[in-house]
Parts: sequence; C-alpha cells; structure tokens
Amino acid sequence: MTISGNQLINGQWVEGTAGSYNAVNPATGETLEPAMSKASSAQVEEAVAAAEAAAATLRKSSLEQRAQFLNTCADEILALGDELVQRAMAETGLPEARIIGERGRTMGQLRMFADYVVKGDYLDARIDTAMPDREPLPRPDLRYVKQSIGPVAVFGASNFPLAFSVAGGDTASAFAAGCPVLVKGHSSHSGTSELMAQALARAVEKCGLPSGTFSLLMGAGREVGSALVQAPEIKAVGFTGSLAGGMALVKLSNERPEPIPVFAEMGSVNPVVLLPEALKERADKIAEGFAFSLNMGVGQFCTNPGLVLAIDGPELNQFIEVAGAKIADQPAGVMLNETIHQAYQEGVSNYCGQTETLAQGGESDGTGFKARAALLSCSAQEFIANPKIHEEIFGPVSLIVRCSDAEELVAAVSALKGQLTGTVHCADGELASHSALADVLAQRVGRLLINGFPTGVEVCHAMVHGGPFPAATDVRFTSVGSTAIDRFVRPICLQNYPQELLPDALKNENPLGILRTVNGEKTREGI
Ligand code: NAP
Repeated sequence: MTISGNQLINGQWVEGTAGSYNAVNPATGETLEPAMSKASSAQVEEAVAAAEAAAATLRKSSLEQRAQFLNTCADEILALGDELVQRAMAETGLPEARIIGERGRTMGQLRMFADYVVKGDYLDARIDTAMPDREPLPRPDLRYVKQSIGPVAVFGASNFPLAFSVAGGDTASAFAAGCPVLVKGHSSHSGTSELMAQALARAVEKCGLPSGTFSLLMGAGREVGSALVQAPEIKAVGFTGSLAGGMALVKLSNERPEPIPVFAEMGSVNPVVLLPEALKERADKIAEGFAFSLNMGVGQFCTNPGLVLAIDGPELNQFIEVAGAKIADQPAGVMLNETIHQAYQEGVSNYCGQTETLAQGGESDGTGFKARAALLSCSAQEFIANPKIHEEIFGPVSLIVRCSDAEELVAAVSALKGQLTGTVHCADGELASHSALADVLAQRVGRLLINGFPTGVEVCHAMVHGGPFPAATDVRFTSVGSTAIDRFVRPICLQNYPQELLPDALKNENPLGILRTVNGEKTREGI
C-alpha cells in the first residue's frame, strides 16, 4: 500500500486540483512525504453528486447489508497492518501503544454499530392501526419509522487520527444509519486519512455498494470544509474540533437556503469537584489520578480535566502538593501540530497573567512542538468575575479554583458553561449532603462521574459524549456510543400506505422480528 496524496472521489483516486501541502512530523518538525493534493470546489461537487446518487440505495439497504459493510470496514482497517500505525505515529507524535489501542477502538466501534443496527431498535418503529369506526372522527392507519437523513459530511478530528477521523464514530454511525459519507480529512494527519480511506474504499467494493458511498476530500485551509457544508445535497454534518471551527460551520449551515443540522462537539474544561471528606480521606490518591488524567495524550483530549474546584484548606494544599510534584516531573510532551502547540502556549501565557502558577512541567528542548504541563490557581471570586479564564486551553493545563465554603463552591459551579463531563470526588454518603451542587453540575454536563476521571470515553450503549452548549451544538445527542446513530436519521410517518410497499420494519407481519410500539404497547408480535 502506498500513500498517493490523492482524493477519493466516487470510487476513484484522483489528484486534487487546488494545490498541495505536506504533513509535518510534530516530534521533529520535519516535512513528511508525499505531498498531499488539495481538492477543488469542483471536485467537492463531484463527490457530493456521487453521494447523492448513492443515497437511495443505501437508504433501502437491509440492516444485514449495513452490518456486513461495517464489519468489512473493520477487517480492512486491520489489514492495513503496521503501515497505518507507523504513519499515524509520524503524523501525530502519539506513541505506538496509543495508536494500536485507538485502532482497536475504531474497529470495535464499527463492529458495535454492526451488532446494534441489525437489532433494528434505532428504527423506533411505531404503528397506530386504523380506527375507521371511531367517533367523532375515524383514525387513519399511521406508521412511523426512522430513515437515513441523506449524505453526511464528516470532519476528521486532529486529536483522534483513527477513532474520530475518516472511519471514526461519526462515519460509523452515519454508515449504520444508511447514509453516504464524505470526509474532510484533517490536514495534520493526511497520510493516515488516506490509508483509512483506502480500507473503506475496499470495503465499499467488496460489499457491492455504490461508489458514492464514501469519499475522502483533503485540503488545508477552509475551502474544502466550507464547500462541503454549503453543498445542497449534504443533509447533516459531524464535527469535532474547536469552538471557532464548529461555530463557523453552524453559520455556514444557517446561511444555506436549506439549513441542516451541524453536530459539532467543541470546547469543554471538564470540571472536577473535590468534596472535603474525599480530600481528607485520600487527597494524595486523587491527586495522582488527576495528574495522570491531565497528562494523558499530552492533555489533548476533549475530556481533559482542565478545571478543579474545591474548598480551600490544608487538604486542598496537600492535593496541590502531590499533583504539583507529578506535573513538575512531567517532561514536555509532543503536541499534535504547530497550530495546536501555538494555541496552547498562547492560552497558558494568557492565563498566567490572570492566575497564580502552582507548578510547571519540564521545558521543551526546542525540537518539534512540545508542551510544558502547568497547574494554575485562582480564587472562586476571581473565577466567577472573569469568564475569560473559563475557556478550554487544549493541552496539559488545569486551573484550581479555591472556594471559601460549600456555598461558594456551588456559586463557582453555577458560573460554568456547558461541559462534556463533570466529576465529583466524594466520600461514602457525602454527595447526599451536597445535593444542590450535584444538581447544578448535572444541569451543565453530558456525563456526570463520581470518583473517577473524565478521560477515557467508553464506546457503549449508555454513553453520552455531548452536552449543553458550547460542549456541543445540540444537547439532545451524543457523538460516541450506539445512540450516535440518532443524529443521522429522521422520522417519517406513512399514513394509509399500501401494505406491500411499506418498509419491512412497518409491515403487519413484522418480518424483521424487531421490537415495535403497536397502539402504544411494545411488542415483537405481528399484526
Ligand atoms: P479546528 O481548527 O476546529 O479544525 C477542525 C477541522 O475543521 C479541520 O478539518 C478544519 O479544516 C475545519 N475547519 C475549521 N474551521 C473551519 C472553517 N471556518 N470553515 C471550514 N472548515 C473549518 O480544530 P483542530 O485543528 O483540531 O484544533 C485546533 C483547536 O481545536 C485546538 O487548539 C483545540 O482548542 C480545539 N480542539 C478541541 C477538541 C475537542 O474535542 N474539544 C478537539 C480537537 C481540537 P482545515 O484543516 O482546512 O483547517
């Protein structure tokens, strides 16, 4: 397998006609070969037209066909072998174990959707049978089912080159829903993106699906992403990245003649609240776990614990001493790319002017894009009065907010914007005496954790990876876990529709054997 630097459009690998760029090894700053071509707007249009042509076939594909396709995608990713691992390491600076783990997560995610989709639960089939004799008015036969929304544009994330990129959660859930996918690959890992796209293209071919099922469009700059979101055939967008990027896409969508949903997962500081009894009991242990979570992946996780809130006192000082020592021992770590590194440096230096620096990690040796971890602090009053220090700094930095008492702790948590996660460390029974705090935090997060750390997002059925704005643009959905599929389906109601033309999910005899709601009752029985 070789990396060509080409685009995948309608099943063909073609050179982008809008120029070229090179990926960079962030550990060394060296340019990586080959040069990657950039797709032009005309090429985006071509790919989108092919996706539109494929949409009806995918919408009507059986659940088994989709499961087979998802499993074949996973097989083909594994078949890429070590070339994928080596290229992803070179483009991201992430270690081998992380990339191999992420590959497993990516394949596991595809297989989870394969298992999930065949059960048919996501279709949420509902039937209200006709009541011709009802007085004063008869009721018609009404049948409800979820169907694919149409072509989906997916933006690969910089910080998960596999699990949130070309064949990541957005793509897997859109395929599971029966949607064609067009990926805007992230420019900082374009070779990795191409290899993953080669695997998906082989899966499309092996499963006999239309060539417009999947396309990869590359390009550094805003042109490719903007053209995709503006294309009339695109019906939804999946995005993980910066608040500025996500909101720019929302704006583009709102300016379309037909606005579409943009499911953007953006900034989050993931507050961690340390309750007094927990600190008394195990300040050292919590501090060790916190420092580990903060430094994992050089802090480049959307669930990184960027904020700690606690009542001031000797136990909090003990926590700071242990966490600070761990952070001071941390050598500078390679960040994903120059832009992210620069944003981190600027963010920390900006915060340093407004907060106290408690600890700093080892300095960079000047090669590549290396970040120095940091632990900062401020009072609750300073925090509440200054929203500028509530923003995410993407990287290994966390701000400790010292509160004078439990009331001020609730006030500081109340000042927070929407978050992906919120965490509380508490002793047995302690949370019950802080129910106001738990309530306030729960209203601001997508996932509330007790006595854990937010990094590490399980791919499962009960996961919520989303949250109130600005963590995500639509609080009703998750981008991780089986219900991520709900973003890419829409309900349709068929009224008095001929039985023989109904989709299988709604036919009287229930040929799929799925769980349906018939006249308000859950059942697998036919009618
Ligand atoms: P980004 O700048 O938001 O870019 C993500 C993707 O969106 C890229 O493909 C980019 O295209 C595209 N894009 C961004 N703005 C656009 C616009 N106005 N129009 C069209 N396309 C646009 O995110 P990033 O490169 O991953 O990292 C930058 C910052 O994002 C980080 O420093 C961090 O603050 C944040 N981030 C947050 C998370 C999180 O999960 N919370 C994850 C990753 C990054 P191009 O490649 O063409 O620029």
